[in-house]
Amino acid sequence: MDHPSSYDVIVIGAGAAGMMCALTAGQRGRRALLLDHLDRAGAKILISGGGRCNFTNVEGDKADRYLCANPHFARSALGRYRPQDFIDLVEAHGIAWHEKTLGQLFCDGSARQIVAMLEDECAKGGVETKLQTRIAAISKPDGRFHVETPGATFVAPSLVIATGGPSIPKMGATGFAYDIARQFGLKVIEPRPALVPLTLGADDRLFESLSGVSLEVEARLGKVHFREAALFTHRGLSGPAILQISSYWRHGDSIAVDLLPGIDASALLTGAKRARPNAEPRTILRERFPDRLADVLADRLALTGALHGHKDAALAEAGRRLNGWGFTPSGSEGFAKAEVTIGGVSTEGLDQRSLMAKKAPGLHFIGEAVDVTGWLGGYNFQWAWASGRAAGESA
Ligand SMILES: Cc1cc2nc3c(=O)[nH]c(=O)nc-3n(C[C@H](O)[C@H](O)[C@H](O)COP(=O)(O)OP(=O)(O)OC[C@H]3O[C@@H](n4cnc5c(N)ncnc54)[C@H](O)[C@@H]3O)c2cc1C
Repeated sequence: MDHPSSYDVIVIGAGAAGMMCALTAGQRGRRALLLDHLDRAGAKILISGGGRCNFTNVEGDKADRYLCANPHFARSALGRYRPQDFIDLVEAHGIAWHEKTLGQLFCDGSARQIVAMLEDECAKGGVETKLQTRIAAISKPDGRFHVETPGATFVAPSLVIATGGPSIPKMGATGFAYDIARQFGLKVIEPRPALVPLTLGADDRLFESLSGVSLEVEARLGKVHFREAALFTHRGLSGPAILQISSYWRHGDSIAVDLLPGIDASALLTGAKRARPNAEPRTILRERFPDRLADVLADRLALTGALHGHKDAALAEAGRRLNGWGFTPSGSEGFAKAEVTIGGVSTEGLDQRSLMAKKAPGLHFIGEAVDVTGWLGGYNFQWAWASGRAAGESA
């Protein structure tokens, strides 16, 4: 049998977190090996942000933008590698960027620049990258991790699992990290699709005709609310406001969608009745909504005929519904369409500074594999960079 090749650290998963971890370890002088089963590194980075990669958010170091069973866990890593640190790196590589809405930072050019930058930094750190490498087994027979692949076995005292979550399996996403976590005695919090379109059931079929219509809303679920665009799809609801709320949504929950955020719709309708009693409610709604949506809402609210024919109380009630339309989604579009996975390797078993497993010294979990999920808008990459950096500094 061939002698296994030895390294100081092996990183499995050449995505955002894995590349950041490998380049950090390499630039500290560690002999780092980066493995991935795909034929290219950074596949999800390439398709992110519509091809322009929303690489961070100016508020990306705020722990309350991340969902985790332990809301304090991410603070340490996020506090030590901040959005500005990544911006500095981007600028050092001459990559032009701009801020879109809500603090979201994008490349002016292409997400390919971010992947090229990370590859370049890996090269500076002497990282050895092996793509198209299937991991057959991992063991720790002698205090070091043995990573078996069909062609060779690699050995290192530090092993970092950066294989992400199962969202978008078509792109090579797997639940590999969870298998390894369980193998080494760590808990896994049930993974669920997040930042995902929601589907509507038979009761809301009327909205099918609105496929393609979008508008600014405030989506609410319990104490959480997001004011952004929503989009009607042929299966249900999407758009940033809905994707955001989907991370908090569980089967059976209803969400309230304020279709006129910042406007008292009851006052709008009753005021319109005084000012223009002969106008139809649908006309008033068409002044605020795309025509197709105004018509569906007027039908749903039974607002037919002139305004003067409607009692104030009925118009006020219709207004309340417009300010909090209740939807009970029948489900979500699942992992096939989810931008991220919520849940994953439980932070209970990880050290928050190094992301190392308390029960398995030398074994780290980073990025989306861990039960830390960011809001939409660059937060998930910021977690990937920050957790990758934290593990790379200690592995
Ligand atoms: C369409 C889309 C758009 C997105 N846009 C944004 C955005 O603009 N901004 C943002 O912040 N976030 C965005 N995200 C989320 C972001 O891409 C992820 O949060 C981030 O990529 C997670 O980084 P990661 O390194 O943990 O995992 P990944 O980037 O998923 O990397 C995991 C790597 O592990 C490899 N791997 C998996 N299983 C195995 C295995 N068994 N053996 C070997 N290798 C394996 C994969 O091939 C992959 O290269 C988007 C996601 C999607 C799907």
